[in-house]
Amino acid sequence: MSNLKHLSPGHSLKENANIIIRSAAMYGVMVLAYLGWVPTWGIVVANLMLYFAVYVSVHEIGHNFPVDRLSLVSRFVPVATPLWGGVRVFQETHRRHHLYFCTDHDPWLPFYAGHPLRALFFNLIEPEVNAFNFVKKHGVDRELVLNVLYNVVFLAGGLYVFGKTYLVYALSMRLIHGVAVFFFNFTLHRDRMSAEAAYSVYTRERLVKPVLPLVRLIWGEAVVFGYMYHDRHHSLRQWRYHPLNYETLKDLNDYSPFIKQWPATSIQRLSEIQAQQDEMQADMAA
Ligand SMILES: [Zn+2]
Ligand SMILES: [Zn+2]
Repeated sequence: MSNLKHLSPGHSLKENANIIIRSAAMYGVMVLAYLGWVPTWGIVVANLMLYFAVYVSVHEIGHNFPVDRLSLVSRFVPVATPLWGGVRVFQETHRRHHLYFCTDHDPWLPFYAGHPLRALFFNLIEPEVNAFNFVKKHGVDRELVLNVLYNVVFLAGGLYVFGKTYLVYALSMRLIHGVAVFFFNFTLHRDRMSAEAAYSVYTRERLVKPVLPLVRLIWGEAVVFGYMYHDRHHSLRQWRYHPLNYETLKDLNDYSPFIKQWPATSIQRLSEIQAQQDEMQADMAA
């Protein structure tokens, strides 16, 4: 695997630049629509084309850098759909999602557990759910207050200056964000669209392959590989690899340090798993 690249500080710069450029472009299209230079639906098209890769950059920075090394950009810029608390909140809850996947300790559980419509609802309020879970564990600190304030000021300022145009921008962004994360959270962790569907991490290679050239052109390779090979990303020692490397990785079928059998038919209780492990160790020692 020596030809694979973790994110280096240089890559972090690239991911930050990606966030800034795309956020600025989406904001720019909104301003142009306000001025009447592009139709209002242009805002939706711009968001649809540009936003997903912002989320992938947020994800990569979240996996690869300790909080004190996140730049101001990744702390504060994701403004389009307010990530309350910025990348830090995403990072903390997403890392727990990997570690406690499919157990009752996964803060991302509402996004993929149970009925698909229930999950869709929680994906639509994903930033709020993550902020809530972050505060539940860590409380409120100065950075969280600053970041929420930043989001509130941006939102209020946008509505004040651009009125309805900003509303279209913010609402369409939220909808696009919610539906996109639903696809990542539900369809990659469940085997079908049903409340009874099994849990695992599924490759969607076969689903995407027939339309690969088209979707790669629209959304870029990082987004498309991120969706196709989420199973490889979940393997325990592969979290930090960039989606551009996913093609060369393998699915090692080890998505959790706690659960060994995949697929699982239901969400597992961590306390029960640990009690079983303790019992087994006691048996072996006896
Ligand atoms: Zn996942
Ligand atoms: Zn991840």
